[in-house]
Amino acid sequence: MPTLTIDGKSITVPEGTTLLQAAAMVDSEIPVVCYHPHLTANGLCRVCSVEVDGWRVQAAACVTTCAEGMNVNTQSTGVRLARQTILAMLASTVDLSQSPEILPLLAEYKADPTVFADGKRRENPIYDDNPFYLRDYNQCINCWRCVQVCAEDAQFAFALNFDGRGFETRIGTFAGNGMTDTTCVFCGQCVGACPTGALKPKRQALLEEGYNPDEVYFATRAKNKRNSKNTD
Ligand code: SF4
Repeated sequence: MPTLTIDGKSITVPEGTTLLQAAAMVDSEIPVVCYHPHLTANGLCRVCSVEVDGWRVQAAACVTTCAEGMNVNTQSTGVRLARQTILAMLASTVDLSQSPEILPLLAEYKADPTVFADGKRRENPIYDDNPFYLRDYNQCINCWRCVQVCAEDAQFAFALNFDGRGFETRIGTFAGNGMTDTTCVFCGQCVGACPTGALKPKRQALLEEGYNPDEVYFATRAKNKRNSKNTD
């Protein structure tokens, strides 16, 4: 039962509690992007980074467990600057226009993607390879939520994983196969867990394209027919 201080507030927590969980207990709000409360945390985006007295680098609150005597600052100038930089880098490389959880953070932290205007944008194909959902990795932030939910966190289908290295890292399937040639069971959980518009139900996409609800059924059928002809 370690006792620590978060933003000047003392708290004693059960062993194994993360800094993110402990901060919520004392009403210190830490922003998150890749973290999802029902999925394994991986500390990938680092937006939840906080300062711990005596630590050389900032700690990702979602994967750092509380320890006796820690003194944690969740809103220091350094922490806020780090979040601003991370968010600006994300916005400069990925299309976040359909990311309802991230757009408010860009505004709150005044994250300006133009400071990285000379940076390279991530450009990926849009995959329309199954009857249920689209994959637009131009909007993907590599948060790994879809991979986790498809794997041991929920579905145990293991249809998705990381592909590539460094800047070219992206979500992919085994051997780049279309979704119908993977172990995907089309449960839709990856679509539900995606914090951006990268994974989108096909019906939603068609409604956004201007089809009315009555037309969606026939448009979906026509598109699926076209796709199956193209893969024959
Ligand atoms: S597709 Fe969505 S859930 Fe999967 S890694 Fe990209 S942003 Fe995250």
